[in-house]
Amino acid sequence: MRVVFIGPPGAGKGTQAERLVETYTMAHLSTGDMLRAARDAKTEVGLKADRYMSAGQLVPDEIIVAIIAGRLGQPDCGQGYLLDGFPRTIAQAESLDAMLAEKDTPLHVVLELQVPEEELFERLAGRGRADDTPEVIRQRLVAYREQTAPLLKYYGGQELLRSIDGLGSIDEIFQRAKAVLDEFAD
Ligand code: ADP
Repeated sequence: MRVVFIGPPGAGKGTQAERLVETYTMAHLSTGDMLRAARDAKTEVGLKADRYMSAGQLVPDEIIVAIIAGRLGQPDCGQGYLLDGFPRTIAQAESLDAMLAEKDTPLHVVLELQVPEEELFERLAGRGRADDTPEVIRQRLVAYREQTAPLLKYYGGQELLRSIDGLGSIDEIFQRAKAVLDEFAD
């Protein structure tokens, strides 16, 4: 099963993604994790990406598209994957569509985790990651609203979008996600 998981920063996507990849046979492709690993390893790409990440901005599309193109070619992705944090812009979504069309492996579903913006700020401010200062949090919420939220319409137009309520207990939210993905699991 090939799934795109979309949600604003602080929505709890990472937590749900971990549980979903334990439940279904699919690789977990978190671009945030990949970029943090590259940054910590001090690779050229990682150091370049860090300048954007620490400001709450999206890293340039060409960097992230190259990373994902390489990752999708790896054998474990043949069983399906959960894309967590990608695509985040329309340009990234178009690049993904082109890659998937070439392999003849279309997406099954795009799952949106919905959380109101007031709630997100509270959650992010309480989390204490290095990129979680108030100004950086604000910037990341703006990036989501302006650059990523347009994907909802994009995938809605492709009839791939399914949205679930991201308020409630971790388990309640997981059950909502599972109810959607069960429709597509083989
Ligand atoms: P969040 O906690 O905001 O969901 P992630 O852990 O997914 O964040 O990503 C952390 C940072 O990595 C983002 O703020 C952004 O700078 C960068 N990043 C991750 N994925 C992408 C992407 N697809 N395009 C551009 N930048 C990305």
